[in-house]
Amino acid sequence: MCREKILTDNLDRVEKIISLASQKAAFPGEAVSLMAVTKYAQDKDVLTLLSAGRLRHIGESRVQQAYLRWTNPVFAKYSVVKHFIGHLQKNKAAKAVELFDFIDSVDSLSLAETLSRFSVKKGKNLRVLVQVKLTDKDTQSGLPLAQARELVKQIASLPGLTVCGYMAIAPQVQDPQELRGLFRAVRHAFEEDFPCGKERWLSLGMSADFAVAVEEGSTLPRVGSDIFARNLEDL
Ligand SMILES: *Cc1c(COP(=O)(O)O)cnc(C)c1O
Repeated sequence: MCREKILTDNLDRVEKIISLASQKAAFPGEAVSLMAVTKYAQDKDVLTLLSAGRLRHIGESRVQQAYLRWTNPVFAKYSVVKHFIGHLQKNKAAKAVELFDFIDSVDSLSLAETLSRFSVKKGKNLRVLVQVKLTDKDTQSGLPLAQARELVKQIASLPGLTVCGYMAIAPQVQDPQELRGLFRAVRHAFEEDFPCGKERWLSLGMSADFAVAVEEGSTLPRVGSDIFARNLEDL
Protein backbone atom coordinates (compact mmCIF):
# COMPACT_ATOMS: atom_id res chain seq x y z
CA MET A 1 0.00 0.00 0.00
CA CYS A 2 1.27 3.48 -0.69
CA ARG A 3 2.43 5.75 2.08
CA GLU A 4 -0.28 8.37 1.48
CA LYS A 5 -3.02 5.76 1.79
CA ILE A 6 -1.57 4.37 5.05
CA LEU A 7 -1.42 7.87 6.51
CA THR A 8 -5.01 8.71 5.65
CA ASP A 9 -6.13 5.29 6.90
CA ASN A 10 -4.31 5.93 10.18
CA LEU A 11 -6.02 9.28 10.54
CA ASP A 12 -9.42 7.82 9.65
CA ARG A 13 -8.93 5.16 12.34
CA VAL A 14 -7.94 7.68 15.02
CA GLU A 15 -10.89 9.94 14.17
CA LYS A 16 -13.27 7.00 14.29
CA ILE A 17 -12.02 5.91 17.72
CA ILE A 18 -12.43 9.50 18.96
CA SER A 19 -15.93 9.71 17.57
CA LEU A 20 -16.98 6.44 19.26
CA ALA A 21 -15.33 7.44 22.54
CA SER A 22 -16.99 10.85 22.54
CA GLN A 23 -20.40 9.20 22.26
CA LYS A 24 -19.59 7.31 25.44
CA ALA A 25 -18.08 10.36 27.12
CA ALA A 26 -18.98 11.49 30.59
CA PHE A 27 -19.81 14.87 29.09
CA PRO A 28 -21.44 14.05 25.75
CA GLY A 29 -22.15 16.81 23.30
CA GLU A 30 -18.86 18.52 23.97
CA ALA A 31 -16.93 18.93 20.70
CA VAL A 32 -13.68 16.99 20.54
CA SER A 33 -10.84 18.12 18.26
CA LEU A 34 -7.84 16.03 17.37
CA MET A 35 -4.36 17.49 17.77
CA ALA A 36 -1.97 15.78 15.35
CA VAL A 37 1.43 15.71 17.02
CA THR A 38 3.89 16.30 14.19
CA LYS A 39 7.11 16.45 16.23
CA TYR A 40 8.53 13.15 14.90
CA ALA A 41 6.74 13.19 11.55
CA GLN A 42 8.51 13.59 8.25
CA ASP A 43 7.79 16.77 6.33
CA LYS A 44 6.36 14.86 3.38
CA ASP A 45 3.87 13.05 5.63
CA VAL A 46 2.70 16.24 7.29
CA LEU A 47 2.27 17.79 3.84
CA THR A 48 0.25 14.79 2.65
CA LEU A 49 -2.33 15.38 5.39
CA LEU A 50 -2.19 19.18 5.15
CA SER A 51 -2.84 19.15 1.42
CA ALA A 52 -5.75 16.76 1.97
CA GLY A 53 -7.20 19.37 4.33
CA ARG A 54 -7.12 16.89 7.20
CA LEU A 55 -5.18 18.78 9.90
CA ARG A 56 -6.61 21.56 12.07
CA HIS A 57 -4.58 21.45 15.30
CA ILE A 58 -0.92 20.45 15.28
CA GLY A 59 1.47 19.95 18.21
CA GLU A 60 5.25 20.41 18.27
CA SER A 61 7.70 20.07 21.14
CA ARG A 62 10.90 21.68 19.85
CA VAL A 63 10.82 25.40 19.19
CA GLN A 64 13.63 25.71 16.66
CA GLN A 65 12.64 22.68 14.60
CA ALA A 66 9.00 23.76 14.57
CA TYR A 67 9.96 27.30 13.63
CA LEU A 68 11.96 26.16 10.61
CA ARG A 69 9.17 23.86 9.47
CA TRP A 70 6.15 26.09 9.93
CA THR A 71 7.71 29.33 8.63
CA ASN A 72 8.74 27.55 5.43
CA PRO A 73 6.28 28.85 2.76
CA VAL A 74 5.43 25.27 1.75
CA PHE A 75 3.93 24.78 5.23
CA ALA A 76 3.03 28.35 6.11
CA LYS A 77 0.37 28.58 3.40
CA TYR A 78 -1.82 26.13 5.36
CA SER A 79 -3.82 27.56 8.18
CA VAL A 80 -3.54 25.33 11.24
CA VAL A 81 -3.70 26.02 14.96
CA LYS A 82 -0.21 25.51 16.31
CA HIS A 83 0.33 24.20 19.84
CA PHE A 84 3.60 24.01 21.71
CA ILE A 85 3.48 20.90 23.92
CA GLY A 86 7.08 20.48 25.11
CA HIS A 87 9.04 21.92 27.98
CA LEU A 88 9.62 25.59 27.18
CA GLN A 89 12.93 27.18 28.11
CA LYS A 90 12.74 30.90 28.75
CA ASN A 91 15.40 31.71 26.17
CA LYS A 92 13.12 30.21 23.51
CA ALA A 93 10.00 31.99 24.70
CA ALA A 94 10.17 34.92 22.26
CA LYS A 95 10.38 32.63 19.25
CA ALA A 96 7.67 30.37 20.65
CA VAL A 97 5.32 33.32 21.10
CA GLU A 98 5.99 34.41 17.55
CA LEU A 99 5.15 31.02 16.04
CA PHE A 100 2.57 29.32 18.22
CA ASP A 101 -1.11 30.07 18.82
CA PHE A 102 -1.11 28.03 22.03
CA ILE A 103 1.47 27.14 24.66
CA ASP A 104 -0.01 24.05 26.31
CA SER A 105 2.76 23.39 28.84
CA VAL A 106 2.75 26.40 31.18
CA ASP A 107 3.79 25.29 34.65
CA SER A 108 5.12 28.37 36.44
CA LEU A 109 4.14 31.95 37.11
CA SER A 110 7.49 33.21 35.86
CA LEU A 111 7.09 31.42 32.52
CA ALA A 112 3.57 32.83 32.18
CA GLU A 113 4.88 36.34 32.91
CA THR A 114 7.60 35.97 30.31
CA LEU A 115 5.06 34.77 27.73
CA SER A 116 2.76 37.63 28.64
CA ARG A 117 5.49 40.21 28.07
CA PHE A 118 6.43 38.85 24.63
CA SER A 119 2.81 38.44 23.66
CA VAL A 120 1.99 42.06 24.52
CA LYS A 121 5.07 43.21 22.61
CA LYS A 122 3.89 41.30 19.54
CA GLY A 123 0.29 42.46 19.93
CA LYS A 124 -0.90 38.85 20.19
CA ASN A 125 -3.52 37.03 22.14
CA LEU A 126 -1.60 33.93 23.14
CA ARG A 127 -3.73 31.07 24.41
CA VAL A 128 -2.21 28.93 27.15
CA LEU A 129 -3.01 25.72 29.02
CA VAL A 130 -1.60 24.89 32.42
CA GLN A 131 0.16 21.53 32.56
CA VAL A 132 -0.94 19.22 35.34
CA LYS A 133 1.37 16.54 36.67
CA LEU A 134 -0.41 13.24 37.25
CA THR A 135 2.38 11.34 39.00
CA ASP A 136 4.84 11.89 41.82
CA LYS A 137 7.76 11.13 39.53
CA ASP A 138 10.18 14.04 39.38
CA THR A 139 10.89 13.43 35.72
CA GLN A 140 7.42 14.62 34.68
CA SER A 141 6.84 18.29 34.10
CA GLY A 142 3.73 20.11 35.19
CA LEU A 143 2.24 20.99 38.55
CA PRO A 144 0.20 18.88 40.95
CA LEU A 145 -3.48 19.60 40.35
CA ALA A 146 -4.02 21.90 43.35
CA GLN A 147 -1.05 24.07 42.37
CA ALA A 148 -2.07 24.06 38.73
CA ARG A 149 -5.46 25.44 39.76
CA GLU A 150 -3.78 28.17 41.79
CA LEU A 151 -1.63 29.09 38.79
CA VAL A 152 -4.73 29.44 36.61
CA LYS A 153 -6.04 32.09 39.00
CA GLN A 154 -2.68 33.86 39.15
CA ILE A 155 -2.27 34.16 35.40
CA ALA A 156 -5.88 34.92 34.52
CA SER A 157 -5.25 38.66 34.61
CA LEU A 158 -1.93 38.75 32.76
CA PRO A 159 -2.19 40.85 29.58
CA GLY A 160 -1.67 39.19 26.20
CA LEU A 161 -2.62 35.74 27.52
CA THR A 162 -5.87 33.81 27.66
CA VAL A 163 -5.76 30.77 29.89
CA CYS A 164 -8.04 28.14 28.35
CA GLY A 165 -7.71 24.94 30.36
CA TYR A 166 -5.45 22.08 31.36
CA MET A 167 -3.05 19.68 29.66
CA ALA A 168 -1.71 16.50 31.21
CA ILE A 169 0.43 13.53 30.24
CA ALA A 170 -0.68 10.22 31.73
CA PRO A 171 1.82 8.08 33.60
CA GLN A 172 2.23 4.45 32.61
CA VAL A 173 -0.11 2.65 34.95
CA GLN A 174 -1.06 -1.00 34.98
CA ASP A 175 -4.64 -0.49 35.97
CA PRO A 176 -6.92 1.25 33.45
CA GLN A 177 -9.27 2.25 36.27
CA GLU A 178 -6.45 4.14 37.92
CA LEU A 179 -5.86 6.01 34.66
CA ARG A 180 -9.55 6.91 34.44
CA GLY A 181 -9.43 8.21 37.99
CA LEU A 182 -6.48 10.48 37.19
CA PHE A 183 -8.16 11.85 34.06
CA ARG A 184 -11.43 12.31 35.91
CA ALA A 185 -9.86 14.44 38.63
CA VAL A 186 -8.50 16.84 36.01
CA ARG A 187 -11.85 16.87 34.25
CA HIS A 188 -13.65 17.90 37.45
CA ALA A 189 -11.19 20.72 38.05
CA PHE A 190 -11.64 21.83 34.43
CA GLU A 191 -15.44 21.88 34.80
CA GLU A 192 -15.18 24.08 37.86
CA ASP A 193 -12.45 26.41 36.69
CA PHE A 194 -13.55 26.76 33.04
CA PRO A 195 -17.34 26.47 33.18
CA CYS A 196 -18.04 28.20 29.88
CA GLY A 197 -16.63 30.12 26.96
CA LYS A 198 -15.68 28.95 23.51
CA GLU A 199 -11.94 28.93 24.14
CA ARG A 200 -11.85 26.11 26.64
CA TRP A 201 -9.77 23.01 26.12
CA LEU A 202 -8.97 19.92 28.12
CA SER A 203 -6.02 18.17 26.52
CA LEU A 204 -5.68 14.60 27.80
CA GLY A 205 -4.64 11.46 25.95
CA MET A 206 -1.90 10.34 23.55
CA SER A 207 -1.61 7.34 21.21
CA ALA A 208 -1.57 4.88 24.12
CA ASP A 209 -4.65 6.22 25.89
CA PHE A 210 -6.65 8.70 23.82
CA ALA A 211 -9.83 6.59 23.72
CA VAL A 212 -9.98 6.44 27.53
CA ALA A 213 -9.09 10.13 27.74
CA VAL A 214 -11.95 11.15 25.44
CA GLU A 215 -14.37 8.91 27.33
CA GLU A 216 -13.29 10.79 30.45
CA GLY A 217 -13.94 14.15 28.84
CA SER A 218 -10.80 15.21 26.95
CA THR A 219 -11.64 17.70 24.19
CA LEU A 220 -8.17 17.87 22.64
CA PRO A 221 -6.42 14.48 22.54
CA ARG A 222 -2.85 14.64 21.18
CA VAL A 223 -1.94 11.82 18.81
CA GLY A 224 1.44 11.38 17.13
CA SER A 225 2.64 7.85 16.48
CA ASP A 226 -0.80 6.35 15.77
CA ILE A 227 -1.02 8.75 12.81
CA PHE A 228 2.55 9.16 11.61
CA ALA A 229 4.24 5.86 12.54
CA ARG A 230 1.60 3.11 12.62
CA ASN A 231 2.20 0.60 9.79
CA LEU A 232 4.92 2.85 8.36
CA GLU A 233 8.07 1.64 10.14
CA ASP A 234 9.32 -0.44 7.24
CA LEU A 235 8.37 1.84 4.35
C1 LIG B 1 4.97 13.31 21.76
C2 LIG B 1 3.83 13.80 22.54
C3 LIG B 1 2.53 13.36 22.24
C4 LIG B 1 2.23 12.31 21.18
O1 LIG B 1 2.65 11.06 21.61
P1 LIG B 1 2.26 9.71 20.81
O2 LIG B 1 2.42 8.66 21.82
O3 LIG B 1 3.24 9.63 19.69
O4 LIG B 1 0.87 9.87 20.33
C5 LIG B 1 1.49 13.89 22.98
N1 LIG B 1 1.70 14.81 23.94
C6 LIG B 1 2.93 15.26 24.25
C7 LIG B 1 3.08 16.27 25.33
C8 LIG B 1 4.03 14.77 23.57
O5 LIG B 1 5.26 15.22 23.89
